[in-house]
Amino acid sequence: MNYQEIIDEVYFTVKNSEFEGQPASYIPELANVNPENFGIHLSTVDHCKYGVGNYLEKFSIQSIAKVLTLSLAYKIAGENLWSRLGVEPSGTAFNSLSQLELDNGIPRNPFVNSGALVICDILISHLNNTKEDFLAFCRSISDNKQLNYSYKIANSEKSVGYRNVALCNFIKSFGNIVNNTEVVLDFYYCICSLEMSCQEISNTLLFLANDDFRTNDHLQVLNMSQAKSINAIMLTCGFYDESGEFAFKVGLPGKSGVGAEL
Ligand code: GLN
Repeated sequence: MNYQEIIDEVYFTVKNSEFEGQPASYIPELANVNPENFGIHLSTVDHCKYGVGNYLEKFSIQSIAKVLTLSLAYKIAGENLWSRLGVEPSGTAFNSLSQLELDNGIPRNPFVNSGALVICDILISHLNNTKEDFLAFCRSISDNKQLNYSYKIANSEKSVGYRNVALCNFIKSFGNIVNNTEVVLDFYYCICSLEMSCQEISNTLLFLANDDFRTNDHLQVLNMSQAKSINAIMLTCGFYDESGEFAFKVGLPGKSGVGAEL
């Protein structure tokens, strides 16, 4: 299969499409990102790499970081994780509050903001130096010591993070956030600000595609069952539709129950 030809075709089709998006401007620093930047990178399990466009340009990976926080939390907490959040598509916007009320503060999945906040809370409970330890985990699985947070972007999001503040406090009112909400939010803004290029992201997440779920350096990140679960949750819960809301295809049965023991 000629992968380069395929991604080139996708790149030029999207680049020439009349449907143009806009950089998310609700985080002030993101409004300064060049909207022309667009790249695709593909890393294969047999160590081939294909890129087109601005695939070496670093950007804050925002919600993509939720896959990395979930991976580390799942590695640490195992199946106990699912007493704190579900694995179902939400059907509402990624930053919605309404569903949480009906679900008693249990986020639908780890990829909506509420779920990512609960995952951050779990990591804070387990790690000694949360920001440093999470960064060390990312550097280790990507074999890239250069990875870093952008405090400029994290602070920018913090300055306008009213909705995430509301979400975090709302979940805490149900007892599903254990730590101080400011500490949880501070970590959340940091993970969203993690800077990577398309090439770095595709290299980093390759462990979810390898048959043995190991990184290029043979580091076992998750066991097979955990990696398959994350792949399934990404497939069913990780879709945004064009209005920026989560769209979904198939639902997985969710686990329910309130608890903050992790
Ligand atoms: N940091 C962003 C937020 O909380 C992440 C959401 C996204 O990338 N869609 O709003």
